[in-house]
Amino acid sequence: MLWPHARLRRPRNVELQTLVADARRERPESEAWLGLLESALGESEGGAVWEAAVPQAAADRPVKAPLLFRAKLTVDGRAARGWVRRLLKRAVRVRPRRVDGVALLEAAVCQDDARIDGVAGAAGAEPQALRVLAQLAALPLLQACGRTLTRHLPGTWWEGYCPVCGAWPVVAEYTGLERKRQLRCGRCGTGWAIPMLRCVFCDETNHAKLGYLTPEGGEQMRKIEVCHTCKGYLKGLTTVRPLAAGAILLDDLKTVPLDVAALERGYQRPERPGYALETRVLEDGGGWWRWWRMVEDQPSPGRGA
Ligand SMILES: [Zn+2]
Ligand SMILES: [Zn+2]
Repeated sequence: MLWPHARLRRPRNVELQTLVADARRERPESEAWLGLLESALGESEGGAVWEAAVPQAAADRPVKAPLLFRAKLTVDGRAARGWVRRLLKRAVRVRPRRVDGVALLEAAVCQDDARIDGVAGAAGAEPQALRVLAQLAALPLLQACGRTLTRHLPGTWWEGYCPVCGAWPVVAEYTGLERKRQLRCGRCGTGWAIPMLRCVFCDETNHAKLGYLTPEGGEQMRKIEVCHTCKGYLKGLTTVRPLAAGAILLDDLKTVPLDVAALERGYQRPERPGYALETRVLEDGGGWWRWWRMVEDQPSPGRGA
């Protein structure tokens, strides 16, 4: 084995540890996913290797394009492949060496499920399992982008998708006395404000077409925003302070009964990403390895255009 001492980490942040323990107790059926998320959050904490991969925001991107649109993320190939391999060993019935870890990260950052399915097919893995794993594998890289690129966010951002990574938000937070609405990305952790009465997914602003579902049992902090035009839904949370980036997906898991309620009433989350990124993930491993990869990374017809 190449990485005898490489282990999956757990988060050291006490608040995150508590949230993971709560989620474990409340949703024991999700243990497999939760174990992977816990590893991704732990990996994200030791973030220097991932922060080194965060690109400059391209100044000439289209006005509605997220910061990672057509960006090049250069990861430490050895560290990135080692991380993906460790996660694969834990989760998916596949020979990890058959999966190109860097290609998998690139497909996950781009939310390109067709490409992830292609990797799964080549490796004999179950596509749905690899899609889930790929998103968690990309979490440390995306969270590093979210932390580092915050200062480059556009002053005004009116889109429903994440201004950094193009994903749809997983939760709307209503914070402070005025209940300001802030959307949160579950991938990179970015938060952005858009007006209260506007559908995140289709920009509907007609009040008669927008509404809320409220949970039974008088739960005051939670509701579900729904749109009758596109049938999209988004979970809402009233909170004093925003969720930590690492806590967003844990909160998403904790509130699965709200998803069930929305789905039963015919609402859904969009399947397609908010914005197609066309991001490249390249590797810089140093030495002969680097030169070898550079040969492989030469542009080929039909790729990255
Ligand atoms: Zn994002
Ligand atoms: Zn809508």
